[in-house]
Amino acid sequence: MLTMGVDIGSTASKAVIIRDGKEIVARQLVAVGTGTRGPQQVYQGVLAQAGVVRADIARVVATGYGRLKFAEADRELSEVSCHGRGISFLCPGIRTVIDIGGQDAKALALDLGGNLENFIMNDKCAAGTGRFLEAMARVLDIPVEEMGMLSAQAQHPVSISSTCAVFAESEVISRLAAGEQAADIVAGIHASVARKVSGLAVRAGVHAPIAMSGGVAKNRGIVEAMERELHSPITVPEDCQLAGAIGAALFAYRDLKSVERS
Ligand code: ADP
Repeated sequence: MLTMGVDIGSTASKAVIIRDGKEIVARQLVAVGTGTRGPQQVYQGVLAQAGVVRADIARVVATGYGRLKFAEADRELSEVSCHGRGISFLCPGIRTVIDIGGQDAKALALDLGGNLENFIMNDKCAAGTGRFLEAMARVLDIPVEEMGMLSAQAQHPVSISSTCAVFAESEVISRLAAGEQAADIVAGIHASVARKVSGLAVRAGVHAPIAMSGGVAKNRGIVEAMERELHSPITVPEDCQLAGAIGAALFAYRDLKSVERS
């Protein structure tokens, strides 16, 4: 039995097809989110990659910021539930999930069975999100994908003290004008994001083992800064940005199994 999960984010669209709630048979990611052609592209793309049509998919669950606008889904579910479920599948036994996406950050506390116990979300303030990092990368004139590699070269990380994204941008510009190295500035930016997001995690309740999901987890510099803040190693699965879509596909499978049982 095939189920599909589609995660329509603010910044990226993701879709996976899973067989029998166990095996990922296709995965697609497009770096544009809700309100663009991204959702249709990943939906069509994942069907093509699996070599199937919609009628072969037993159930489709949509999640993410743009989930209510996705007509192909049988059901929609919050991204908090889906990220927790997806990470439990990718990294069984994880108790804390930190998800940093395009325009929000969340910390999820899971129980021993991988069920959601508590969560805290920041979707009010840009600092501590992917958008913040993208804005900083623009100021520094570097691709966001290179920030992690660059911060690894930092010799004397600078301190970015502004907690507001707009002020932090001015602070970065003045650091550049003062002749600070880009690597040192990026390390300071990562530390500032990690401080902000680890605060969420502490409020949600941090229990090791910890994992990160979302696109920003691909930035090694952020992951290491989070490890320093939380004094704990953090697992990042290869499919970190697909965790929400994977969780949605697994919930689709669970829905069908519970109908079968009743
Ligand atoms: P959303 O679900 O809100 O659309 P995602 O979890 O898909 O967000 O993450 C999108 C964010 O991840 C963007 O801000 C993007 O810049 C960042 N991102 C994606 N790939 C990378 C990468 N290789 N390195 C650093 N950041 C990345």
